[in-house]
Amino acid sequence: MLPVAIVGGGPVGLSLALLLRQAGIGCEVFDARPAGAGFGDRRVLALSHGTRQIFQRLDTWTEIGAAPITTIHVSQHGHLGRTLIHAAETGVPALGYVAEAGRVARALAQTCAATGVKLRNGIRVTGSEAGSGRALLRFAAPPGDETVPAQLIAWAEGAVSAEHGGVRRDYAQQAIVAAVQTRTPPAGIAYERFTGSGPVALLPLAGRYALVWTVPDDAAADLSELDDRAFLARLSAVFGGRHDFISVDARAAFPLGLRYRETPVGERAVWLGNAAQTLHPVAGQGFNLALRDACELARQLRDEPADCGSPALLARHAAARHLDRRAAIGFTDGLVRLFGLRDPFSAHARGAGLLALDLMSAARRFLARRMIFGARGW
Ligand SMILES: Cc1cc2nc3c(=O)[nH]c(=O)nc-3n(C[C@H](O)[C@H](O)[C@H](O)COP(=O)(O)OP(=O)(O)OC[C@H]3O[C@@H](n4cnc5c(N)ncnc54)[C@H](O)[C@@H]3O)c2cc1C
Repeated sequence: MLPVAIVGGGPVGLSLALLLRQAGIGCEVFDARPAGAGFGDRRVLALSHGTRQIFQRLDTWTEIGAAPITTIHVSQHGHLGRTLIHAAETGVPALGYVAEAGRVARALAQTCAATGVKLRNGIRVTGSEAGSGRALLRFAAPPGDETVPAQLIAWAEGAVSAEHGGVRRDYAQQAIVAAVQTRTPPAGIAYERFTGSGPVALLPLAGRYALVWTVPDDAAADLSELDDRAFLARLSAVFGGRHDFISVDARAAFPLGLRYRETPVGERAVWLGNAAQTLHPVAGQGFNLALRDACELARQLRDEPADCGSPALLARHAAARHLDRRAAIGFTDGLVRLFGLRDPFSAHARGAGLLALDLMSAARRFLARRMIFGARGW
């Protein structure tokens, strides 16, 4: 019987597999897609300092080729108030790092292959049954009628299933992502700009910026279909002419919402990554949070390897992750809603908030550490 069966070989499932391997816990990963399908993932991830430390331990950091963020510039379109957060204030070499999700997937898959982690591609899991000290995975073909027994099933299939939707909020927004080039190359500064229709982020990456532009559902198709010139003119207006944009590559759109399971554990089951909570990308928390969840699970299993799916162990895991998980969900949702309110009073209050933040170094440090470390930054 497998100690742990991991459903989903995305960045979260593969990270968990490597962490378990380091902890000496046996596992296999089952993924519905063919090998290498995730290498073309167009998302760009802002990785925290904590994530860097985990990837260094897994020996994947160099392969990921992430670019450091040394300053974050936060502002609001059409209103006064901005704040600058510098790495030097927080005692870490960088506030975060920017990486292509496809490259993260490739680095993790290569390390899995090099270290003998068993990754079974093209296998869709259709469900499971738990009982008598084990859980059984069920599959669509192939491998046909075969069932795989495991002490624990780690679900990392990238979505909170409809029947376990728990709390949901549809932001009625989409994120348009693309790489944009400016006449002056980025110098480690990330820009987060809040506009009446959603936040826009420019993240420095290999001589250009990764753009994450949040727009209402009804505006997404129009924006995606604009020709490059018109698209860049629109973007330039959003940033008040601060940047001289010269090119943009193909755009991809992602629908945005909040969905999370009240508890990330069940009978012989644990949910991780987007399968446990799917967050708005505004605060760059989703993957970083998932990695902290995976790390904690691997630590618990290493300390108590006899039965990986025991109810006591899973209850301890849920309790250990409660604060960080709730804080990341609340922080992200709060930010989306605070900056999503369109009335003039809220806009002025936000402007005053940003100005105050610019004057209060302790509050700025708090915000930076929350982004860098998760709840342990409090
Ligand atoms: C625009 C955007 C920007 C983002 N920016 C950031 C950021 O800056 N920082 C950050 O931390 N996070 C960010 N996120 C969130 C981050 O992308 C996700 O948290 C992360 O990619 C989730 O990875 P995952 O492995 O859980 O899911 P996925 O990457 O979706 O992987 C799931 C895997 O499961 C497999 N699968 C699905 N169903 C089955 C099945 N039935 N059987 C077997 N296999 C199955 C799939 O083939 C896939 O390989 C962003 C998200 C978006 C949309």
